[in-house]
Amino acid sequence: MQPGYQIHFHGFCDASVKAMAAALYLATNHNGNITSHIIASKTKVAPLHSVIGQPALQTHYTSGDELVVIDLLDRFSHLGKLLRTTAYILRCKKAHQRFRSHTHICTGEMDIALNHHIKAEQAKYFAAEVKQLKKAQPISTSSKLIALSPFISSTADNILRVGGRLHNARVTEPQRHPIILPKDSTLARLLIWQVHQDTLHDGIQIMLHTIRHKYWILQARILVKQCIHSCAICRRHKHIMLKQRMATLPKARVIPSPPFARSGLDYCGPFNIRIGSMAKRNVRKAYVAIFVCMVTKAVHIELAENLTSEAFINAYTRFVNRRGPCNHLYSDNGTTFIGADRLMAADLQAWHNEYSQQQLAN
Ligand SMILES: [Zn+2]
Repeated sequence: MQPGYQIHFHGFCDASVKAMAAALYLATNHNGNITSHIIASKTKVAPLHSVIGQPALQTHYTSGDELVVIDLLDRFSHLGKLLRTTAYILRCKKAHQRFRSHTHICTGEMDIALNHHIKAEQAKYFAAEVKQLKKAQPISTSSKLIALSPFISSTADNILRVGGRLHNARVTEPQRHPIILPKDSTLARLLIWQVHQDTLHDGIQIMLHTIRHKYWILQARILVKQCIHSCAICRRHKHIMLKQRMATLPKARVIPSPPFARSGLDYCGPFNIRIGSMAKRNVRKAYVAIFVCMVTKAVHIELAENLTSEAFINAYTRFVNRRGPCNHLYSDNGTTFIGADRLMAADLQAWHNEYSQQQLAN
């Protein structure tokens, strides 16, 4: 490059809801003789899904000038992408020139970008409060933030934080004085979505807990609910299996009656039981008859030596002797019960015949 030349780069870009375009010019000034050349230009039609409700993005800078960025926030649906893009743009600022030699964006730059957006959102939604606090005046009593006793730390990062009464609490500094964000803020929405992914699509409580480590978002619970509701993954996992509708309960279970007057019966087992003294170790199989009262759900348990009808009749006799007469007994029609029923019916018939004979004889 010959001496006496002044070189300027001029970058222009503009975007609307339909398309965006950018152009970069090189301008040289040699003793008042100015020439300019186009170096690169780019145009792009906006993707369909982002057409609705997107305000125009306008940036314009010339080399060495202060950067103007308007509404960058609304262009992104992912916090990480927003912060990386912001960090690249902020490198154009003189204060951040030291980062230009880095090939990648570092965490320090991401933090600076995040703080940049936090301050912008606070200035947008809490303009009055920020103005009053910067002048060291008390904020107005009608402010939404009055209960949070907010303050701005001018020595640190100029961010509006919750004052509160936790100055002496043994928690981290951001937890003690979380950053205040408005409910309608796009940044709050992006942060909540990020937390939702960081907590692996967890529920409301864990998300709120995670957010409050660093931020105090107004009406955060509503935003968290909206986030979970709009998440396709969560919706898929929340889907409840269809259940069979239960039928009306039978009369036996809803009409009041004495305990065990209407009972259900089933066997369970086999169980190994030991007969005689501990020393003998004579182990054999046995079953357990379970009588359940249909009304009170009380349970009576009897031992049945085996699956024969006789063993059941013994168990049933002990049950009736202990609990009183049973008017209705419901079972699963197992072979044992049918056999027992047949035996008892025959016994009843025999007794009836004998009784009739006796009556006739008398
Ligand atoms: Zn989810």
